[in-house]
Amino acid sequence: MLFEKLGLSAELLRAIEKQGYLKATPIQQQAIPLILEGRDVLAGAQTGTGKTAGFTLPLLQQLQMRPSEGRRGCVRALILVPTRELAAQVRQSVLTYGSFLPFRTMEIFGGVSINPQISKLRKGVDIVVATPGRLLDHVQQRTIDLSSVETLVLDEADRMLDMGFIRDIRKILSTLPKQRQNLLFSATFSKEIRRLAADFLHAPTEIQVAPRNTTADRVSQVVYPVDKRRKRELLSHRIGVENWRQVLVFTRTKHGANRLAEQLSDDGIRAVAIHGNKSQAARTKALADFKAGKVRVLVATDIAARGLDIERLPHVVNYELPNVPEDYVHRIGRTARAGQEGQAVSLVCIDELKLLRDIERILKGRIEQEIIPGYEPDPRIKAEPILQGRSQRSAGHNGGGRNTGGRKKKRTGPSHSHDARSAQGNRSSGRRRRAG
Ligand code: AMP
Repeated sequence: MLFEKLGLSAELLRAIEKQGYLKATPIQQQAIPLILEGRDVLAGAQTGTGKTAGFTLPLLQQLQMRPSEGRRGCVRALILVPTRELAAQVRQSVLTYGSFLPFRTMEIFGGVSINPQISKLRKGVDIVVATPGRLLDHVQQRTIDLSSVETLVLDEADRMLDMGFIRDIRKILSTLPKQRQNLLFSATFSKEIRRLAADFLHAPTEIQVAPRNTTADRVSQVVYPVDKRRKRELLSHRIGVENWRQVLVFTRTKHGANRLAEQLSDDGIRAVAIHGNKSQAARTKALADFKAGKVRVLVATDIAARGLDIERLPHVVNYELPNVPEDYVHRIGRTARAGQEGQAVSLVCIDELKLLRDIERILKGRIEQEIIPGYEPDPRIKAEPILQGRSQRSAGHNGGGRNTGGRKKKRTGPSHSHDARSAQGNRSSGRRRRAG
């Protein structure tokens, strides 16, 4: 469907044309008219479907068509996202689609100084894209006024809940005006998501573009069975033989990401790691270098990679399978985006066969396996348990967010809670302040 048919304003159509989009994606076709009608929407859509434009375009139009009723300079639209990277990307989308409109936008996340954010807020901002923790800091310090918010978007709501942000979200929402439009986007609809929707959405229309946990059709998937100790060698071999120019590689741990990036660099393949222990500046630079083709391999942990928008990313490699099968779907969703073809390769050792079975169960099908000559698994090697304590993902579930208040499972180790925290990036300052 053409964008002209969706009732968007001339300014927005001009911005869309500048982007070169020819047709609205299915989520855009469904979401845009509903949002323009002012309805609350509960949308099941993953990254890569065009969901960001699906809510940003009509949100901008609503602001354009409705003269501001609040005081000048007050925040009129609030978009909550799980990670800093996603905040930066969504803000970029707001700037892109709103390039012919006068609205001021800013991103708010932790891990960076709060003062520049306060100064910018003082000057007046129409649209805020924020991670929950730092936004709550602003709310509690009264450096942001959310009393004029007309539209609220919860983007990647399932991931925000996974990261333990539910209490922060509820606190933030309690400060918003009751009369507002609510849009909730989530890749999956768990019970918790439904509860959140029931509490905060008003008679929402539910839309769904891809059934739960289905893999993008255009991603070709393959498993290379290989011994654990030979994975790095096989990866370098494939990158060389297949001449992959831009590869996103997933590891389970930050440590593993660092080590792999170093080893690949030793093999002469330019690689950098991106994870929550890296400074924001280092992460931004790594992503920019990767996008620009200066770096061939980006090694990422699940939380750090969440929401990364890299256009036409051709290859995703699961160097280690994720502990949580749904993460496999999120990971391979990084490739074959918006109509492109993509390939997802998983290097699977004997320890990971159970994880592979769990993934195949949610995909409802087997993933093709191919043994690469010279890398045949050694049948004498016995499976060993995977150390859950080092898992990246358990950080998100068990200790990643703020104020989980002990309701969640116990933390599994001191280091991993850090990744989710840094991915969202603001807890320590908030905690110190609260403690003091
Ligand atoms: P998202 O699902 O919002 O992360 O978007 C994924 C990618 O699709 C982004 O790189 C967008 O620029 C791109 N995109 C969004 N809408 C369209 C469209 N209608 N046609 C082509 N590409 C699009």
